[in-house]
Amino acid sequence: MANLSSAIGTDTTDRSLNFCLSSALRAFTGVLRYGVVMRILNGLVRERGSSCPRVGETVAFDVTQDGNSINIQAAGIDIYFAVEGITLPLGTDASFAVWALLPRAMEEGFNLHINRSIDPQVAANAELLSQIWETWVPGRYRSISVSGQGEWSRARRARSPQVQLFSGGIDSTFSIIENRKPQTHGVVATVSGIDKVSEANFARLIAKTEPLLKNLNCTRILITSNAQHQPSSLTHGLTLASCLFLLSDLFEQGTLAADFTHAQDLAVWPWGNNQVTNQYFAGSDFVVRTLGAEVGRTEKIASIARAGIDLRSLSFCRQWNVIPSNCGTCRKCIRTKAMFLIATGSIPEIFIDNSFDERLLRKMVHHRVERAELFDLYSYARKHASLGKIHSLVGLVEECRTE
Ligand SMILES: [Zn+2]
Repeated sequence: MANLSSAIGTDTTDRSLNFCLSSALRAFTGVLRYGVVMRILNGLVRERGSSCPRVGETVAFDVTQDGNSINIQAAGIDIYFAVEGITLPLGTDASFAVWALLPRAMEEGFNLHINRSIDPQVAANAELLSQIWETWVPGRYRSISVSGQGEWSRARRARSPQVQLFSGGIDSTFSIIENRKPQTHGVVATVSGIDKVSEANFARLIAKTEPLLKNLNCTRILITSNAQHQPSSLTHGLTLASCLFLLSDLFEQGTLAADFTHAQDLAVWPWGNNQVTNQYFAGSDFVVRTLGAEVGRTEKIASIARAGIDLRSLSFCRQWNVIPSNCGTCRKCIRTKAMFLIATGSIPEIFIDNSFDERLLRKMVHHRVERAELFDLYSYARKHASLGKIHSLVGLVEECRTE
């Protein structure tokens, strides 16, 4: 770590100690008691006025490459990326490291310096993003500055048109089906190390989803990384952007499937993959496009069903010990069953437990994200005169109105 500058004032001191202690407490107290403990702690911190070391500092990172493996390192931080299925050029553009490091930099409040040249457009957009996240979640994130070393330019080489992120879930399956060009070979990238996909289940996820990719004339790049930083619900967009920018020497653009519609973004905010911050995943000659933000998830499921693909390739459950299968009993699986029922009239045999108990839908009423999906389900059902397929749906929507 290079301590290039230090600008720690009284106000930032309080907030930085707050952050250090809050990180430690998070591990010990759990989510439920966290708010109460933090209120007590905030009072103590204001009186004591100690400091965390990195607020206002500039931390310089090395980005080193060994074939298809790349490491990003500075004191206390060691992030790796490994790529299979394509050959990274020597001297891979290091700009991707900015997105990978941004959650940590914003959280610890340090300015980010890469000891390599980086795309100035990426640096500028990352700074703007840090201002947005600071505005949205000031208790966790700070705005920071981003810099590189030397003048950046893209090495001249032919690039393929696009690479699409693909997880096997509803959103990315819909996106690759909708965004494919018939007769044209496509390339997707699947990431291990994000969203409970890890070494333990990655190979089975690949095997499960491979027939669909073959059917769609797509080949796949595998990316393994430990870049994900908690809470992933806020940072996963940045992690995915870093994976796509890692391939920016080989492709002209990357695509990312939207998690929610524009309107839903405002219901589930703050969320890491959204239409406000995603537009900043852009460099001078490489951009990440977000696909499917105009389509609700029930409509996506209807489209997937109409496409006639083998639905057994879908992997959307996020029970880590079940992935890539779909348990059928978690919130995501119950919601997806309901959406299939409304959109197609039946539930496909793609769940370990394929039964459907309407009473389980009540879980959606009390969960911020699921409530947005419940209204998507309701709107689709009303539009297509299929409210009768789930008798309790109207009652659940009414229950939301009394929350
Ligand atoms: Zn599940």
